[in-house]
Amino acid sequence: DITEVDYIWKNGELVPWAEATTHVLSHSLHYGSGVFEGIRCYKVPDEDKSFVFRLRDHMERLHRSCKIAQIELPYSVDELMDATLEVIHANKLPACYIRPLVYRGYGVMGVDPTGAPVDVVIAVWPWDAYLGADALENGVAVGISSWRQRSNNAIPPAVKATASYMNSILAKMEAKAHGYAEAIMLNEAGLVCEGTGENLFIARNGVLSTPPLSDGLLEGITRDTVLCLADDLEIPAVEESLTRSDLYIADEVFMTGSAAELTPVGSVDGRVVGKPGEITRALQDRFFDLVYGRIDEYADWLTEV
Ligand code: PMP
Repeated sequence: DITEVDYIWKNGELVPWAEATTHVLSHSLHYGSGVFEGIRCYKVPDEDKSFVFRLRDHMERLHRSCKIAQIELPYSVDELMDATLEVIHANKLPACYIRPLVYRGYGVMGVDPTGAPVDVVIAVWPWDAYLGADALENGVAVGISSWRQRSNNAIPPAVKATASYMNSILAKMEAKAHGYAEAIMLNEAGLVCEGTGENLFIARNGVLSTPPLSDGLLEGITRDTVLCLADDLEIPAVEESLTRSDLYIADEVFMTGSAAELTPVGSVDGRVVGKPGEITRALQDRFFDLVYGRIDEYADWLTEV
């Protein structure tokens, strides 16, 4: 649920929350012609200090999404970073979720977007643990979806496109109807791909694995973070294709995302994985040390608010 705050940044200006609206004939509403990001700003516990996590990397990915989607983004990475800090300051939020959205606005109808304006917004609001308060601690039940993730040649997974989330919504609703907190989608080849808003990792016999980008998944910034942290902790990690059986027999399974952070998986299709394991816990602990600014070598990934 959304918690209202005072301002949203839109096309270079701060506008009051209630006025950040768009016309019902905006191109993106009809054809899914938008791209977006999801970012977190963390408040350091017991200190009057907050950091946005990997802000530059998220804004660079937004630019890559626009490049593939052929959307002309009128703001540089640095301008988008400044705008993010501006809207956080305006709303006086110590911790928040950040949602930049670039969309084709009002002006033309029809699939051809030529002539539609490009609108850019950055919204921020307080957002708790994405998969529920208990999820980070005790893990969630997930199920393999009957919906497949689209292939690399249909709404490319490297684009964080609004259109992609039709698929995620179908899988998410199915998962909830089956009593699961989250869905895991396979790709068209039947290999494990990703969650509806998360990448996926397993650990087996002390080795961490995650599907390669070529299997058709979003290049997750948390996924990349976890691979770096695994390296620091000398946990062997590989990017390799995984089958659903690999999930059933894994020692540990967890999902990663800016919203979901590092969420342990307690069962897959009713096959019990168990309580969050040693590798999951070690990576989770180091992840939170990192976002709270306790690891000097990653200072570059934190933007102080
Ligand atoms: N896959 C999908 C489909 C997602 O929506 C997300 C969330 N952006 C992720 C993976 C994880 O990406 P990140 O760690 O960059 O948030």
